[in-house]
Amino acid sequence: MLTFYPGPAKVYPEVRDYLTQAYDEGILSIPHRSDRFVHLTKSLVALLRKKLNIPQDYYIYFVSSATECWEIIAQSLTRYKSYHLYNGAFGEKWLDYVKKIKPKSAGTKWDLNEELNVPDLAVDEDAEIICITQNETSNGTQIKENTILNLFNRFRDQLIAVDATSSMAGMALKYIKADIWFASVQKCFGLPAGLGIMVCSPRTIFRAKEIKEKGHYNSLVTLYEKMLNYQTSITPNVLDIYLMYKVMEEREAIKIIDQHLVKRAQDFYQFLEEFTDFQLLVTNQEVRSATVIAVEGKEKVIDELKKNALRSDIMLGNGYGAWAKNTFRIANFPAHTDEEFEALKHFFRTNSQ
Ligand SMILES: *Cc1c(COP(=O)(O)O)cnc(C)c1O
Repeated sequence: MLTFYPGPAKVYPEVRDYLTQAYDEGILSIPHRSDRFVHLTKSLVALLRKKLNIPQDYYIYFVSSATECWEIIAQSLTRYKSYHLYNGAFGEKWLDYVKKIKPKSAGTKWDLNEELNVPDLAVDEDAEIICITQNETSNGTQIKENTILNLFNRFRDQLIAVDATSSMAGMALKYIKADIWFASVQKCFGLPAGLGIMVCSPRTIFRAKEIKEKGHYNSLVTLYEKMLNYQTSITPNVLDIYLMYKVMEEREAIKIIDQHLVKRAQDFYQFLEEFTDFQLLVTNQEVRSATVIAVEGKEKVIDELKKNALRSDIMLGNGYGAWAKNTFRIANFPAHTDEEFEALKHFFRTNSQ
Protein backbone atom coordinates (compact mmCIF):
# COMPACT_ATOMS: atom_id res chain seq x y z
CA MET A 1 0.00 0.00 0.00
CA LEU A 2 1.32 3.41 -1.00
CA THR A 3 0.21 5.93 1.59
CA PHE A 4 0.04 9.65 0.95
CA TYR A 5 -1.69 10.31 4.25
CA PRO A 6 -0.27 13.46 5.84
CA GLY A 7 0.13 11.83 9.23
CA PRO A 8 0.61 9.26 10.47
CA ALA A 9 2.53 9.16 7.22
CA LYS A 10 4.76 6.75 5.40
CA VAL A 11 7.75 5.73 7.53
CA TYR A 12 11.17 5.29 5.98
CA PRO A 13 11.50 1.66 4.83
CA GLU A 14 14.79 1.40 6.73
CA VAL A 15 12.77 1.65 9.94
CA ARG A 16 12.06 -2.05 9.54
CA ASP A 17 15.74 -2.93 9.97
CA TYR A 18 16.30 -0.30 12.64
CA LEU A 19 13.58 -1.91 14.75
CA THR A 20 15.43 -5.21 14.71
CA GLN A 21 18.71 -3.45 15.41
CA ALA A 22 17.19 -1.65 18.37
CA TYR A 23 16.10 -4.99 19.78
CA ASP A 24 19.43 -6.68 19.08
CA GLU A 25 21.43 -3.83 20.57
CA GLY A 26 19.38 -3.97 23.75
CA ILE A 27 18.24 -0.35 23.35
CA LEU A 28 14.65 -1.19 24.22
CA SER A 29 15.48 -1.86 27.84
CA ILE A 30 18.04 0.82 28.66
CA PRO A 31 17.23 2.99 31.69
CA HIS A 32 16.73 6.64 30.85
CA ARG A 33 19.30 7.69 33.46
CA SER A 34 22.01 5.44 32.02
CA ASP A 35 25.16 6.58 30.22
CA ARG A 36 23.93 4.86 27.08
CA PHE A 37 20.75 6.91 27.04
CA VAL A 38 22.66 10.13 27.74
CA HIS A 39 25.06 9.31 24.93
CA LEU A 40 22.20 8.58 22.51
CA THR A 41 20.36 11.82 23.34
CA LYS A 42 23.50 13.91 23.19
CA SER A 43 24.41 12.45 19.81
CA LEU A 44 20.89 13.00 18.51
CA VAL A 45 20.82 16.64 19.61
CA ALA A 46 24.12 17.26 17.80
CA LEU A 47 22.84 15.43 14.72
CA LEU A 48 19.60 17.42 14.63
CA ARG A 49 21.52 20.69 14.84
CA LYS A 50 23.68 19.61 11.94
CA LYS A 51 21.01 18.13 9.67
CA LEU A 52 18.21 20.61 10.33
CA ASN A 53 20.35 23.73 10.84
CA ILE A 54 19.16 24.35 14.37
CA PRO A 55 21.24 27.16 15.91
CA GLN A 56 23.79 26.16 18.54
CA ASP A 57 22.20 28.30 21.23
CA TYR A 58 18.68 26.94 20.72
CA TYR A 59 17.51 24.24 23.11
CA ILE A 60 16.07 20.93 21.89
CA TYR A 61 13.60 18.89 23.96
CA PHE A 62 12.00 15.50 23.41
CA VAL A 63 8.35 15.32 24.37
CA SER A 64 5.52 13.07 23.27
CA SER A 65 3.57 15.03 20.65
CA ALA A 66 2.83 18.37 19.04
CA THR A 67 -0.33 18.61 21.13
CA GLU A 68 1.79 18.33 24.23
CA CYS A 69 3.82 21.30 22.98
CA TRP A 70 0.58 23.34 22.82
CA GLU A 71 0.11 22.41 26.44
CA ILE A 72 3.67 23.16 27.53
CA ILE A 73 3.53 26.60 25.92
CA ALA A 74 0.25 27.40 27.68
CA GLN A 75 1.41 26.06 31.06
CA SER A 76 5.00 27.16 31.23
CA LEU A 77 5.35 30.19 28.99
CA THR A 78 2.04 31.98 29.33
CA ARG A 79 0.94 33.87 32.43
CA TYR A 80 -2.41 35.13 31.11
CA LYS A 81 -2.86 34.81 27.41
CA SER A 82 -1.49 33.88 24.04
CA TYR A 83 -2.70 35.24 20.71
CA HIS A 84 -3.33 32.90 17.79
CA LEU A 85 -3.28 33.62 14.08
CA TYR A 86 -4.79 30.83 12.02
CA ASN A 87 -6.44 29.98 8.73
CA GLY A 88 -7.21 26.31 9.28
CA ALA A 89 -8.26 23.52 11.60
CA PHE A 90 -4.98 22.87 13.42
CA GLY A 91 -4.34 26.51 14.23
CA GLU A 92 -7.90 26.82 15.49
CA LYS A 93 -7.65 23.61 17.51
CA TRP A 94 -4.51 24.98 19.16
CA LEU A 95 -6.42 28.05 20.33
CA ASP A 96 -9.36 25.93 21.56
CA TYR A 97 -6.95 23.73 23.50
CA VAL A 98 -5.15 26.68 25.06
CA LYS A 99 -8.38 28.38 26.12
CA LYS A 100 -9.02 25.53 28.54
CA ILE A 101 -5.72 26.31 30.26
CA LYS A 102 -5.47 30.08 29.77
CA PRO A 103 -9.07 31.23 29.12
CA LYS A 104 -8.10 34.79 28.17
CA SER A 105 -6.25 33.56 25.11
CA ALA A 106 -7.63 34.88 21.85
CA GLY A 107 -7.05 34.82 18.15
CA THR A 108 -8.02 35.82 14.70
CA LYS A 109 -8.63 33.96 11.52
CA TRP A 110 -7.44 34.97 8.09
CA ASP A 111 -8.44 33.76 4.67
CA LEU A 112 -6.92 30.63 3.26
CA ASN A 113 -5.97 32.25 -0.02
CA GLU A 114 -4.35 35.27 1.52
CA GLU A 115 -0.93 35.88 2.93
CA LEU A 116 -0.82 36.75 6.59
CA ASN A 117 -0.75 40.54 6.56
CA VAL A 118 1.71 41.38 9.31
CA PRO A 119 1.83 45.21 9.06
CA ASP A 120 -1.97 45.50 9.45
CA LEU A 121 -2.35 42.85 12.14
CA ALA A 122 -4.15 43.87 15.30
CA VAL A 123 -2.77 41.67 18.04
CA ASP A 124 -3.99 42.10 21.62
CA GLU A 125 -1.24 44.08 23.28
CA ASP A 126 -1.34 42.12 26.50
CA ALA A 127 -0.70 38.81 24.75
CA GLU A 128 2.60 37.28 25.77
CA ILE A 129 3.00 34.84 22.93
CA ILE A 130 1.96 34.89 19.29
CA CYS A 131 1.12 31.47 17.89
CA ILE A 132 1.15 30.48 14.25
CA THR A 133 0.99 27.25 12.29
CA GLN A 134 3.76 27.34 9.70
CA ASN A 135 2.28 24.55 7.63
CA GLU A 136 -1.48 24.16 8.03
CA THR A 137 -1.91 20.44 7.49
CA SER A 138 -5.69 20.72 7.23
CA ASN A 139 -5.79 22.90 4.11
CA GLY A 140 -2.33 22.75 2.54
CA THR A 141 -1.20 26.31 3.12
CA GLN A 142 2.08 27.57 4.48
CA ILE A 143 3.46 30.74 5.99
CA LYS A 144 6.56 32.08 4.28
CA GLU A 145 9.88 32.63 5.97
CA ASN A 146 9.67 36.38 5.39
CA THR A 147 6.26 36.63 7.01
CA ILE A 148 7.61 34.93 10.13
CA LEU A 149 10.55 37.32 10.11
CA ASN A 150 8.20 40.30 9.85
CA LEU A 151 6.19 38.98 12.75
CA PHE A 152 9.34 38.47 14.81
CA ASN A 153 10.53 42.00 14.02
CA ARG A 154 7.20 43.68 14.65
CA PHE A 155 6.34 42.00 17.94
CA ARG A 156 9.48 42.39 19.99
CA ASP A 157 8.00 41.76 23.44
CA GLN A 158 6.12 38.63 22.54
CA LEU A 159 7.53 35.18 22.01
CA ILE A 160 6.71 33.74 18.60
CA ALA A 161 5.61 30.09 18.73
CA VAL A 162 5.44 28.07 15.53
CA ASP A 163 3.67 24.77 14.98
CA ALA A 164 5.80 23.16 12.30
CA THR A 165 4.43 19.65 12.69
CA SER A 166 4.07 18.96 8.98
CA SER A 167 7.15 20.85 7.79
CA MET A 168 9.99 20.30 10.27
CA ALA A 169 12.55 17.89 8.72
CA GLY A 170 10.99 18.61 5.31
CA MET A 171 11.44 22.34 4.92
CA ALA A 172 14.57 24.37 5.71
CA LEU A 173 13.08 26.39 8.55
CA LYS A 174 14.90 29.47 9.79
CA TYR A 175 14.85 28.78 13.48
CA ILE A 176 16.42 32.09 14.51
CA LYS A 177 13.35 33.92 13.19
CA ALA A 178 11.09 32.64 15.95
CA ASP A 179 11.31 31.44 19.54
CA ILE A 180 9.54 28.11 19.76
CA TRP A 181 9.26 25.51 17.01
CA PHE A 182 7.75 22.10 17.45
CA ALA A 183 6.62 18.98 15.60
CA SER A 184 5.71 15.37 16.09
CA VAL A 185 7.60 12.70 14.21
CA GLN A 186 4.83 10.91 12.28
CA LYS A 187 4.86 13.49 9.50
CA CYS A 188 8.04 14.76 7.77
CA PHE A 189 10.40 12.80 10.01
CA GLY A 190 8.99 9.57 8.55
CA LEU A 191 8.87 7.84 11.93
CA PRO A 192 6.18 6.05 13.94
CA ALA A 193 4.09 8.33 16.16
CA GLY A 194 4.86 8.77 19.84
CA LEU A 195 7.56 11.43 19.98
CA GLY A 196 7.51 15.21 19.75
CA ILE A 197 10.37 17.65 19.40
CA MET A 198 10.46 21.17 20.72
CA VAL A 199 13.09 23.73 19.78
CA CYS A 200 13.42 26.85 21.96
CA SER A 201 15.35 30.11 21.72
CA PRO A 202 17.46 31.33 24.66
CA ARG A 203 14.85 33.99 25.50
CA THR A 204 12.17 31.30 25.67
CA ILE A 205 14.10 29.55 28.41
CA PHE A 206 14.69 32.92 30.10
CA ARG A 207 10.91 33.46 30.10
CA ALA A 208 10.26 29.97 31.45
CA LYS A 209 12.69 30.59 34.32
CA GLU A 210 10.98 33.90 35.12
CA ILE A 211 7.56 32.26 35.26
CA LYS A 212 9.00 29.26 37.15
CA GLU A 213 6.01 27.03 36.50
CA LYS A 214 6.90 23.60 37.84
CA GLY A 215 3.55 22.00 38.46
CA HIS A 216 3.64 19.41 35.69
CA TYR A 217 5.93 16.57 34.71
CA ASN A 218 6.51 18.32 31.41
CA SER A 219 6.97 21.85 32.76
CA LEU A 220 9.51 23.61 30.60
CA VAL A 221 11.82 24.45 33.51
CA THR A 222 11.89 20.76 34.42
CA LEU A 223 12.60 19.76 30.82
CA TYR A 224 15.36 22.38 30.76
CA GLU A 225 16.95 21.14 33.99
CA LYS A 226 16.89 17.50 32.93
CA MET A 227 18.18 18.24 29.45
CA LEU A 228 21.26 19.96 30.87
CA ASN A 229 22.37 16.35 31.42
CA TYR A 230 20.73 15.07 28.21
CA GLN A 231 17.94 13.43 30.13
CA THR A 232 14.16 13.64 30.13
CA SER A 233 11.78 14.11 33.03
CA ILE A 234 9.91 10.87 32.35
CA THR A 235 10.86 7.54 30.82
CA PRO A 236 10.61 8.61 27.20
CA ASN A 237 9.99 6.80 23.95
CA VAL A 238 13.56 5.52 23.72
CA LEU A 239 12.74 3.44 20.65
CA ASP A 240 11.55 6.48 18.70
CA ILE A 241 14.56 8.50 19.88
CA TYR A 242 16.79 5.70 18.60
CA LEU A 243 14.89 5.51 15.32
CA MET A 244 15.17 9.26 14.90
CA TYR A 245 18.91 9.02 15.33
CA LYS A 246 19.22 6.23 12.79
CA VAL A 247 16.93 7.92 10.27
CA MET A 248 18.51 11.39 10.60
CA GLU A 249 21.99 9.94 10.19
CA GLU A 250 21.09 8.90 6.65
CA ARG A 251 19.40 12.16 5.63
CA GLU A 252 20.85 14.78 3.35
CA ALA A 253 21.19 18.36 4.56
CA ILE A 254 17.77 19.97 5.00
CA LYS A 255 18.44 22.48 2.23
CA ILE A 256 18.67 19.68 -0.30
CA ILE A 257 15.56 17.93 1.03
CA ASP A 258 13.68 21.25 0.91
CA GLN A 259 14.66 21.92 -2.72
CA HIS A 260 13.62 18.43 -3.74
CA LEU A 261 10.21 18.68 -2.05
CA VAL A 262 9.53 22.18 -3.41
CA LYS A 263 10.30 21.05 -6.93
CA ARG A 264 8.20 17.90 -6.62
CA ALA A 265 5.31 19.91 -5.17
CA GLN A 266 5.44 22.48 -7.99
CA ASP A 267 5.47 19.69 -10.52
CA PHE A 268 2.56 17.92 -8.88
CA TYR A 269 0.46 21.08 -8.49
CA GLN A 270 0.95 21.72 -12.18
CA PHE A 271 -0.01 18.15 -12.98
CA LEU A 272 -3.22 18.38 -10.94
CA GLU A 273 -4.26 21.65 -12.56
CA GLU A 274 -4.93 19.83 -15.82
CA PHE A 275 -7.90 17.95 -14.40
CA THR A 276 -11.52 19.12 -14.45
CA ASP A 277 -12.90 16.57 -11.95
CA PHE A 278 -11.30 18.52 -9.12
CA GLN A 279 -9.40 21.75 -8.36
CA LEU A 280 -6.64 22.75 -6.03
CA LEU A 281 -8.11 23.97 -2.75
CA VAL A 282 -5.52 26.74 -2.51
CA THR A 283 -5.76 28.98 -5.56
CA ASN A 284 -3.09 31.45 -4.51
CA GLN A 285 0.23 29.89 -5.47
CA GLU A 286 2.06 32.09 -2.99
CA VAL A 287 0.56 30.36 0.03
CA ARG A 288 0.53 26.78 -1.20
CA SER A 289 2.30 24.26 1.00
CA ALA A 290 5.13 22.20 -0.44
CA THR A 291 4.51 19.30 1.95
CA VAL A 292 0.72 18.95 2.02
CA ILE A 293 -1.32 19.29 -1.16
CA ALA A 294 -5.08 19.76 -0.80
CA VAL A 295 -7.50 19.00 -3.63
CA GLU A 296 -11.12 20.03 -3.70
CA GLY A 297 -14.10 18.63 -5.57
CA LYS A 298 -17.70 17.47 -5.31
CA GLU A 299 -18.16 15.17 -2.34
CA LYS A 300 -19.18 12.29 -4.54
CA VAL A 301 -16.22 12.65 -6.87
CA ILE A 302 -13.77 12.89 -3.98
CA ASP A 303 -15.29 9.87 -2.30
CA GLU A 304 -15.13 7.78 -5.49
CA LEU A 305 -11.57 8.81 -6.15
CA LYS A 306 -10.43 7.80 -2.67
CA LYS A 307 -12.15 4.42 -3.04
CA ASN A 308 -10.65 3.82 -6.48
CA ALA A 309 -7.27 4.74 -5.12
CA LEU A 310 -7.60 2.12 -2.41
CA ARG A 311 -8.39 -0.46 -5.07
CA SER A 312 -5.09 0.50 -6.70
CA ASP A 313 -3.34 0.14 -3.34
CA ILE A 314 -2.96 3.89 -2.93
CA MET A 315 -4.16 5.72 0.14
CA LEU A 316 -5.00 9.38 -0.33
CA GLY A 317 -5.31 11.49 2.81
CA ASN A 318 -8.85 12.32 3.88
CA GLY A 319 -9.90 15.93 4.12
CA TYR A 320 -9.71 17.49 7.58
CA GLY A 321 -11.93 19.74 9.67
CA ALA A 322 -14.19 21.95 7.57
CA TRP A 323 -12.74 20.32 4.45
CA ALA A 324 -13.32 16.72 5.58
CA LYS A 325 -15.73 15.71 2.82
CA ASN A 326 -14.93 17.89 -0.17
CA THR A 327 -11.16 17.52 -0.22
CA PHE A 328 -8.42 14.95 -0.11
CA ARG A 329 -4.83 15.59 0.82
CA ILE A 330 -1.55 14.32 -0.52
CA ALA A 331 1.54 14.32 1.66
CA ASN A 332 4.76 15.25 -0.10
CA PHE A 333 7.15 14.17 2.63
CA PRO A 334 10.84 13.26 2.44
CA ALA A 335 10.12 9.54 2.90
CA HIS A 336 8.13 9.49 -0.36
CA THR A 337 10.08 8.59 -3.47
CA ASP A 338 9.77 10.18 -6.90
CA GLU A 339 8.69 6.76 -8.19
CA GLU A 340 5.75 6.80 -5.80
CA PHE A 341 4.70 10.16 -7.18
CA GLU A 342 4.93 8.74 -10.69
CA ALA A 343 2.65 5.89 -9.59
CA LEU A 344 0.25 8.45 -8.15
CA LYS A 345 0.24 10.38 -11.41
CA HIS A 346 -0.49 7.20 -13.29
CA PHE A 347 -3.45 6.58 -11.01
CA PHE A 348 -4.91 10.05 -11.70
CA ARG A 349 -4.31 9.77 -15.44
CA THR A 350 -6.24 6.51 -15.57
CA ASN A 351 -9.01 7.44 -13.09
CA SER A 352 -9.79 11.12 -13.60
CA GLN A 353 -10.29 13.70 -16.24
C1 LIG B 1 -0.60 16.49 13.18
C2 LIG B 1 -0.59 17.87 13.68
C3 LIG B 1 -0.75 18.17 15.05
C4 LIG B 1 -1.02 17.12 16.09
O1 LIG B 1 0.04 16.24 16.24
P1 LIG B 1 -0.03 15.16 17.43
O2 LIG B 1 1.21 14.35 17.25
O3 LIG B 1 -1.27 14.35 17.22
O4 LIG B 1 -0.06 15.91 18.70
C5 LIG B 1 -0.68 19.49 15.43
N1 LIG B 1 -0.47 20.47 14.54
C6 LIG B 1 -0.32 20.23 13.23
C7 LIG B 1 -0.10 21.36 12.29
C8 LIG B 1 -0.37 18.92 12.75
O5 LIG B 1 -0.21 18.67 11.45
